[in-house]
Amino acid sequence: MNTKPDNIHRLLKRAVKSQLEIGTSEIIINRNSGKSHINKCDGQTDVLNIASEIELFNEFDTSALGEAEFDSLEAHYEQICNCQKCPLGKTRNKFVYGVGNPDADLVFIGEGPGRDEDLQGEPFVGRAGKLLDKILEAIKFTREDIYITNMVKCRPPENRDPLPEEMEACNPYLIEQLRLIKPKLICALGRVAAQRLLDTKTPLGKLRGHWHNFMGAEVLVTYHPAALLRFQAYKRDTWEDMKKLRARYDEVTR
Ligand code: SF4
Repeated sequence: MNTKPDNIHRLLKRAVKSQLEIGTSEIIINRNSGKSHINKCDGQTDVLNIASEIELFNEFDTSALGEAEFDSLEAHYEQICNCQKCPLGKTRNKFVYGVGNPDADLVFIGEGPGRDEDLQGEPFVGRAGKLLDKILEAIKFTREDIYITNMVKCRPPENRDPLPEEMEACNPYLIEQLRLIKPKLICALGRVAAQRLLDTKTPLGKLRGHWHNFMGAEVLVTYHPAALLRFQAYKRDTWEDMKKLRARYDEVTR
């Protein structure tokens, strides 16, 4: 069993909710063993009020993203498409908002538009985008099933990584997109997106393969398709990540 903190949290949350549904009001925790017991007391114990625990857990529900300010992605796009909040606004050709299903349960997030995306105004349309389409096809998704966007909506010159201050300036736009879409799952593509989203400096190799949490959505990290074009060796791990993503998607949308 996956005993990573996010997974434990999810399992514990599910257990507490099911107890609440059957009318149990308290959980007794045995501190000696570190295991939880329902209505059973042995060793040194604490009693938790389930209702207050649900409150605690709720900070991880997708409602933690807060209410959207806009009525739709279109309205949001219209409002921000001429943004000049950071220097990338001056050098872009096209603002690259995002594409896909506005009610998607799964959102893919990359770091920023590249040359082709900047020219066409759509994310992941160059070589890396074509590879992403193949990956999606392999796990039986189309672009209409999911939503794709980036941390920054304008192309960083010379395809450099977006700077922290550029991602900071653009982050409210991503948050609003997520508030409107309310995905259950997020797939962070590449180190830059993953580290910014999860607010960590942990290397991508250690982030991938596990479930993380971003304001209520479960996050899986994998390699950026552009990295796969350069390093064939990443393909096997990416395939494992994608199988995991598809299986979880099927579980949460059942
Ligand atoms: S990258 Fe984001 S914050 Fe910067 S100009 Fe473009 S839309 Fe605005």
